[in-house]
Amino acid sequence: MPGILYIVPTPIGNLEDITLRALRVLKVVELIAAEDTRHTQHLLAHFGIKTALTSYHDHNERGKARTLVERLKSGASIALVSDAGTPAISDPGYRIVVDAIEAGIQVVPLPGASALTTALCASGLPTDRFFFEGFLPAKAQERKAKLQSLRGEAATLVFYEAPHRLLDSLAEMLEIFGDREISVARELTKVHEEFRRGKLSEVVRALADRDIKGEIVIMVHGASGEAQVSDEELHGTIRQLAGNGMGVKEIAELLGERYGLAKKEVYKLALDLKATKHAK
Ligand code: SAM
Repeated sequence: MPGILYIVPTPIGNLEDITLRALRVLKVVELIAAEDTRHTQHLLAHFGIKTALTSYHDHNERGKARTLVERLKSGASIALVSDAGTPAISDPGYRIVVDAIEAGIQVVPLPGASALTTALCASGLPTDRFFFEGFLPAKAQERKAKLQSLRGEAATLVFYEAPHRLLDSLAEMLEIFGDREISVARELTKVHEEFRRGKLSEVVRALADRDIKGEIVIMVHGASGEAQVSDEELHGTIRQLAGNGMGVKEIAELLGERYGLAKKEVYKLALDLKATKHAK
């Protein structure tokens, strides 16, 4: 009989957030495949678990997945864990799950901690639909292109972010998404757990002078229904407002707010339209 591959979530900060089932599985499997064996060793020692560990991380994922699937085929059951939270969610795991499924191995996921669901459920933003982007690219240009591609997404957007990049990312989101409602969750389940909720501009202002540390999830309200406005409609509205004597700045503010668009972008568009009108 082949063994079972268990996907076992571990706490994202608070050690009480491990399930009874996770502890039992970690005890009875033959082997625990861990992202960082030393890190997981601390967790196991805390709960008095002596199961053997082997490493399974980003850099050995392909080869190691094949080796572990051979062990599973020969009857060993294996628990996969990452440093914190749910394996395969912005963490190693995808490859061994695919290989195990292809080999006809039973894959049993255990429910448990993940920063994604922990943050989202208390964000105060709509939870009926969400789009998990995980980490944005480290390079500013790629990050902006990614944000542009998400501008029209109506579902709540969820990002994992490093503390030193938080303010840059928020500033870029403000520029690209406009002043939407957001929620920033920091240090979930830990002593300094904190949520910052409000308009993007307010949160940027509140965090601007702080030395931000710890682990962070950013959640952004999706594009409002009205944000799906067509270019034609937007141009028409700008012309109409300008025709009524409204200034470019006011137009940018009004339509940015109404359609959930970046004010800077509407401002530029209104200026361009004004320039083409004068050119005619
Ligand atoms: N697999 C993990 C999960 O299920 O949440 C995520 C691993 S990913 C490498 C680590 C990122 O998750 C962090 O940079 C942060 O964005 C988020 N994260 C993890 N723990 C967190 C916590 N306690 N509070 C806030 N964000 C956390």
